[in-house]
Amino acid sequence: MKTIYLDNNATTAIAPDVLNEMLLYLREFYGNPSSMHTFGGQLHRKVEEARAKVAALINAKPEEIIFTSCGTESDNTAIMSAVESFPQKRHIITTRVEHPAVFNFCKHLARKGRRVTFIPVDNFGRLNMEAFRKALDDDVAVVSIMYANNETGVIFPIEDIGGILRERNIVFHTDAVQAAGKIPIDVKKLPVDMLSISGHKLHAPKGVGALYVRKGTRFYPYIIGGHQEKGRRAGTENVASIIALGKACELAKKHIEEEASYLSDLRDKLESALLKCCPDVRINGDTEHRLPNTTNISFDFVEGEAILLRLDEYGICASSGSACTSGSLEPSHVLRAMGVPFTAIHGSIRFSLSRYNTEEEISEVIKIMPPIIKELRTLSPYGKEKL
Ligand code: PLP
Repeated sequence: MKTIYLDNNATTAIAPDVLNEMLLYLREFYGNPSSMHTFGGQLHRKVEEARAKVAALINAKPEEIIFTSCGTESDNTAIMSAVESFPQKRHIITTRVEHPAVFNFCKHLARKGRRVTFIPVDNFGRLNMEAFRKALDDDVAVVSIMYANNETGVIFPIEDIGGILRERNIVFHTDAVQAAGKIPIDVKKLPVDMLSISGHKLHAPKGVGALYVRKGTRFYPYIIGGHQEKGRRAGTENVASIIALGKACELAKKHIEEEASYLSDLRDKLESALLKCCPDVRINGDTEHRLPNTTNISFDFVEGEAILLRLDEYGICASSGSACTSGSLEPSHVLRAMGVPFTAIHGSIRFSLSRYNTEEEISEVIKIMPPIIKELRTLSPYGKEKL
């Protein structure tokens, strides 16, 4: 059975060109870039080439990129750096819909005595700008607000938020793990101080990420040890994966516009067919400002997990809520924050596409979904009269 992989916000396939490029550095050139000898030392240049490619994706300077082990590390590092750099400031501002890499880290800091404000969103997942403005005070060490939501794809107005924070000289971090490589990002124009990227969301392998730190931003390392990354992140470099991340960013930059339009066409085709397939179906999130590859759809009166299991029988991979929360039946904190009704949260499915999805695959899903929903509604105690 062929797999139809529509769970690309959870992780992506490594691009063949990316894999080809990295294999050499696993098989043959396994040296340490800090070594004095040529065998290791020559890798230093390869790491710097990769840094330049990651920087180019977001129009940063290479020296503003720090390699990390994942998006979570980038997020934790950015927030902790600001907290350590401004110890007298006790207030952190974030949102109610962040990925756990920010959300749970901020909760952890709250337990350690920081004051944390979680800004609410409206029914479309849009940030409550009034609440955000009101939360600002002289005690804020850092504001961390995601670029695009992993569950709904909703894009926040990062430029406006950053503009407000610039006026008040407040450090601004954005988790761009889902946005980087999918939509153009230009940090020369964007008023952000730190920005997180993760390799496995843009066709590089798992276990590598990057943190952009604008030149002049106070920075305090999170992982302390050797001199790597100019003392900003200790630990021997994951050379092969760093090279892979560089290649993946190069490919993403090259094709970003055409890929976005290809993906949004496919996504819209899927979405409009599913909306028509049966009653009580809704899209969660602001469809105007959204990642091109993501749709979050609720089928009222059906369990999302039941839909996933049925799709799985056909080799179709999707997700209910975020990958990190599935496996437990906790309803998604993102959809709850948006005030999505209970019955709709439980029937929510996220389809997230990539450049490797085809028109045929989407047609297949469009064919398979309606009978699944019908069948599950017949079984559901709430669904019988909602066929
Ligand atoms: N931030 C967002 C928005 C994400 O979607 C994810 C992963 O799903 C992360 C952070 C964590 O990234 P990583 O898996 O590389 O730690």
